[in-house]
Amino acid sequence: MKLKIHRGAAQIGGNIVEIATKSTKIILDCGRNLPPLDDPKAADDMEIDGLTRGESAYAAVFVTHYHADHCGLAERVNADIPIYMSEDTKNVLDVIADFINRPLPRVNKILNPGHEERIGDIKVVPLNVYHSAMGAMAFLVEADGQKLLYTGDFNRIDETFYTLIDQVDILLCEGTNIGARNGMTEQDVELDAARIMRETDGPVFVLCSTTNIERVRRIERACNKSGRTMAIDPFMKAVTDKAASQLLLVNPVGFVPNFITEEKTPRIYKYLARDFMTFAGARAVSKMTNLTFMVRQSMGEFLERLNRLSALKGSTLIYSMWRGYENTAYTKKFLDLCRSLGMNIEYLHASGHAYREILETTVSRLNPKTLIPIHTESAETFCEMYDNVVTLCDGEVFDCERL
Ligand SMILES: [Zn+2]
Repeated sequence: MKLKIHRGAAQIGGNIVEIATKSTKIILDCGRNLPPLDDPKAADDMEIDGLTRGESAYAAVFVTHYHADHCGLAERVNADIPIYMSEDTKNVLDVIADFINRPLPRVNKILNPGHEERIGDIKVVPLNVYHSAMGAMAFLVEADGQKLLYTGDFNRIDETFYTLIDQVDILLCEGTNIGARNGMTEQDVELDAARIMRETDGPVFVLCSTTNIERVRRIERACNKSGRTMAIDPFMKAVTDKAASQLLLVNPVGFVPNFITEEKTPRIYKYLARDFMTFAGARAVSKMTNLTFMVRQSMGEFLERLNRLSALKGSTLIYSMWRGYENTAYTKKFLDLCRSLGMNIEYLHASGHAYREILETTVSRLNPKTLIPIHTESAETFCEMYDNVVTLCDGEVFDCERL
């Protein structure tokens, strides 16, 4: 079995990993490069012969989760190469495609955790991991008598995960936070959010990723603890409908932040029309009390409308994303607006990626013969911690037989 990281060996995001035997080649993740913070719409022109152009050389593409830095190139994969992903991943990508008016993702097979897929002489077993994307999976790959575990992105792993795996030969492990110890946990976010919600007289607004279902669940629990009702827009309603089994969402209030018409945005209108009676405009929600609005950077005008209705008095914005996004123009503009409207701003976030202690536990539990970092800018930290680390460059072939 040969391993080649086409991209992502020494950077965060843009993962494309190849596993090859003499007869079969597959791809794990086909990520788009994370765009620079000052140019969020930057294109990714990466081409791989046999994957995105030329005669197809790969038998399948397996996607770990729905973040674009792991699946963003899927739409450019040759049409005759089947794409595999979990049901949650497909569902969320479908909703996103509807709301940004892009083609629906092509999915040829739904992966079920623990159920192996055989592609030629390669066996792939998908396993659930926790990440800021629901339905995220790690892949256990077996071929030529060797086992490789590709973690994808994760922030923690269930005990049952380890019961499904005995020793692995190669651990291809994400290391986004290998340099960070003891960061805030989702539980901390929940407790602090509940406190802020209790201490705030006016409405609370939470700026977080709509598709980070674990975070939505934590905010929802904080609402319950503080006697607030969560207010969600049609996009969050559509996403959370897909995650219904993981959420409570008891009678949330629906609000429409932007004008939606059947003519201009028919695919979004379909969602709205289905739930029409449950969504209210700014005027109606401005009269309600004890609300916590789930918001995005695009909702500045909605906040201004609430302000004109004198509904922002004593309000707080909880910024619940990676702080780095503050440097993007659209986030900065939104935060500046919040400040100019007199809103108090609090920061609460837990990383979607495992902190160092959890990475250490993962490595010691899986006890790999060889540890290969990916999705990290600090591979050298792994080298300092372990003596079985092999660092690869993008495009370098690692022959697992040499172990
Ligand atoms: Zn991710």
